[in-house]
Amino acid sequence: MLRSDIMQTYDVVSYTNEHLSDERLAIALRVHTTVRQILGDFFRSRGFIEVPPVIISPLTDPLNHPVYDPYITYYDEKYALTKSMIFHKHLLVSHFDKIFTFSPNIRIETPDKAETGRHLSEFTQIDVEARGATREQMMSLVEDLMVELVSKVKEKHADDLRKLGRKLEVPRKPFRRYQYLEAEKEYGKDFEAVLSRKEKDMFWIIDIPLQAREFYDREDPSRPGILVDMDLIYPEGFQEALSGGEREYQLDRILERIKKKGQTEEQFKWYIEFARRGLPPSAGFGIGIERLVRYICGFKRIDDVHPFPKVPGKFSL
Ligand code: ASP
Ligand code: MG
Repeated sequence: MLRSDIMQTYDVVSYTNEHLSDERLAIALRVHTTVRQILGDFFRSRGFIEVPPVIISPLTDPLNHPVYDPYITYYDEKYALTKSMIFHKHLLVSHFDKIFTFSPNIRIETPDKAETGRHLSEFTQIDVEARGATREQMMSLVEDLMVELVSKVKEKHADDLRKLGRKLEVPRKPFRRYQYLEAEKEYGKDFEAVLSRKEKDMFWIIDIPLQAREFYDREDPSRPGILVDMDLIYPEGFQEALSGGEREYQLDRILERIKKKGQTEEQFKWYIEFARRGLPPSAGFGIGIERLVRYICGFKRIDDVHPFPKVPGKFSL
């Protein structure tokens, strides 16, 4: 768990006081209010039902990068704080065609993430999943969403954006696509950041290699080692907007993928039980709300959009 010597302390009362009275935070929160409304309305109008979030569970996302894992004792059971509702989404679409949720996630990031300007250890994502959907369908849905969202926010918050000196372009469909391995070859290890700085519009990174993602994204049967998944990347250096993809749903594939990641079946035993009974094919994605608001406002740091930002490795309220 967290060691006290990596926790940075500072005058948190003065910081919070100043931060809460900052006009930039007020603008960010007004934008946040609109963004949540547009997101909810968009998915409701397309037949998605909203489900309540899961905050504690014996089952959560393993993620593909190291975080400190907080657990609580729930009666005598060990429960995790939700890192994402990926598995709950899959169980839900066995029974409901299309779902979304505003899901609070806890990912206690390592302190080296403090200066990225993109990481908060506590954030909310809108997590979306549709039974029988393909990656193509989900990408098209996201493109429609982003076009609508940026247009509406620009119109409604013209004054706010002017005050921030923020010029925002409505993205144009179809968004450009980069294949992960090709982009890596051309632009090097740091290709996501390089491309994000270079591009003027949002773009996709698709076909992510197996070891670069969690076991639940579906491996392309015709291209072993390549997943049928995608990341949406913001331009102007703002980087990742969402991750998503088609899902593994067959028991044997799920077990093989867990093994390939060097993970244990024990950790996912509840999910495996459901896979044994049969899970449907599905696809979905999760959009970080604070990152979206940060992109719209054009802020250097994500802390500026959250009233009580949990910056990795920093004491906070
Ligand atoms: N919920 C996943 C995540 O947090 C995104 C997805 O739906 O694949 O990474
Ligand atoms: Mg991701």
